[in-house]
Amino acid sequence: MTPRRWIGVSNPRLTALITEAIGEGWLKDMERLHDLEPLADDAAFREKWRQAKKEHKNRIAQLARKNFNWIIDPDSMFDVQVKRIHEYKRQHLNCLHIITLYWRLKNGIGTDLTPRTFVFGGKAAPGYFMAKLIIKLITSIAKMINSDPDVRDKIKVIFRPNYNVKIGQLVYPMADLSEQISLAGMEASGTGNMKFAMNGALTIGTLDGANVEIREAVGPENFFHFGMTAQEVLDSKAQGYNPADFYNGSDELKNVLALIESGHFSHGDTSLFRPLIDALKFNDQYMLLADYESYVKCQERLFRTGTSG
Ligand SMILES: *Cc1c(COP(=O)(O)O)cnc(C)c1O
Repeated sequence: MTPRRWIGVSNPRLTALITEAIGEGWLKDMERLHDLEPLADDAAFREKWRQAKKEHKNRIAQLARKNFNWIIDPDSMFDVQVKRIHEYKRQHLNCLHIITLYWRLKNGIGTDLTPRTFVFGGKAAPGYFMAKLIIKLITSIAKMINSDPDVRDKIKVIFRPNYNVKIGQLVYPMADLSEQISLAGMEASGTGNMKFAMNGALTIGTLDGANVEIREAVGPENFFHFGMTAQEVLDSKAQGYNPADFYNGSDELKNVLALIESGHFSHGDTSLFRPLIDALKFNDQYMLLADYESYVKCQERLFRTGTSG
């Protein structure tokens, strides 16, 4: 993971701002970014930082409109999960949170939400049925949410197909929030998490892979941590983890899964997402149900800190 590519080339505005503040050389020695710490209290510097991010978000919104006819609000919080689609990376946990917000908004709850644009990108390996079904879930909830006037000014969902390095160079600098929500113990390291962090995004994540070091480097106040630790995962599995305990313990989780099962996002087709729902309810190898409540609460904590733009 080369900083020269992932911030130097992809984010020239922020690169110039940092170089102006702490001089050259930091791209070769990331430790030097600590020299920026005193500037965290400098209102003028913070404003310039916000402006750099805002200009990039404006540019992305223009590109999205021009290339895909997607309408994205650049003032909304960009909440981004881009990486290979895999059950252990848990893009479907992100979906469960989005559907929770959708369900709440439809019921008049949480309407003071900071507007959020959820962005997904990633490829599924050929023949990986569940990963393809997760993509189908993302695009199906996107269709429903983005066309519903009750919710679309608060939440919006985008799936960028054919995610690759070139697209990545546009995506990492635009993020306000980086989703690093793999089941603890599964990710060897991860590099996306670092690319987001060096471009100034906050992270929401489990203590998995390099997330642990990132949390130390950026400070716990910039890392929203949730979920089981790798040891807790092992212990829970050893004790015969049963997702039904979590399913039966949360009415909100039941509602969310029932909404998917009912065909709400699939034109009434109750069989389309059944393999995904059954895997969660009866096996849940990647323990989404165990981490669901902690994840949703962590998202609420993040919202209450008033972070946007
Ligand atoms: C960095 C990168 C990844 C790795 O992402 P992780 O979040 O570490 O899984 C995958 N694909 C592309 C195109 C990347 O640039």
